[in-house]
Amino acid sequence: MLPQPDHPHVDVRDLRLETACALVGLDASALPAPGQTPAQFLQEIVDGLCTLSLKDPLTGLANRRHFQAVLDREIDRVARSGEAALLLMLDIDRFKQVNDTHGHIAGDRVLQAVARTLAQCVRPMDTLARYGGEEFAIVMPACQAAFGMVVAERIRRAVAASPVQIDAATRLDVTISIGGAYAMQWIRSSPILWTDRADHQLYLAKAEGRNRVCIEPQPDSTVSAEEKGMLIGPLYTPSGWGDLTAMPPKDNAP
Ligand code: GH3
Ligand code: MG
Ligand code: MG
Repeated sequence: MLPQPDHPHVDVRDLRLETACALVGLDASALPAPGQTPAQFLQEIVDGLCTLSLKDPLTGLANRRHFQAVLDREIDRVARSGEAALLLMLDIDRFKQVNDTHGHIAGDRVLQAVARTLAQCVRPMDTLARYGGEEFAIVMPACQAAFGMVVAERIRRAVAASPVQIDAATRLDVTISIGGAYAMQWIRSSPILWTDRADHQLYLAKAEGRNRVCIEPQPDSTVSAEEKGMLIGPLYTPSGWGDLTAMPPKDNAP
């Protein structure tokens, strides 16, 4: 609860809300709507702006800001639970040629079509985002190492099997390259390190010829109950006994 200001009542007519209303598709002159309190009206605007700030306008997918927050949360969860989580970075192959040959609007149509195909390939628990330009990212919680390649291959094949109709006469074949890396289990790493590792695999997929998947090989991550106890149990430091799970994020974790 925020502290109560001296004058808790705000008259919405004193606020400049035209731009905010236009952004979220409300008619500022007709509001608050009948039966709606000023607080409900403001909440509707705030909710609309929050939704907008987390979405990519072209594809309707989560944007990079949203994705970053999900990565933070996922790293925290994996560090505590030791569950497997896979990050995939996906990049459309030779996309510049689409723009150069067919124009920017055709390029936009390809981005929207690829976004739709990708959305059909993920589970509700996964987060799919437009990471930037012609690059997408997916974070997949609870994806065991044995399935990473299978899942990523299925996504790659789905895009390759979905040519994009950019106008009545033109269908374009589109392919993507995919790089993947698992989150470090039982270690609090950082979003930058995780995305760098997946990006490196994407670079390898491009270098190996594109339209392919590279996933960072997983070390044998089986942790016995005894090892787990040692990892998350009390830790002796010169200043006393601490708790590894309470350690601050390690930016330079291996
Ligand atoms: P590679 O296979 O190595 O990934 O080649 P590429 O051509 O896909 O990569 P490059 O980085 O050379 O080109 C990416 C292009 O994506 C250049 C840029 O104009 C285009 N692009 C980025 N964002 C958008 C967008 O929102 N709409 C459209 N139409 N094009 C975009
Ligand atoms: Mg790119
Ligand atoms: Mg590309």
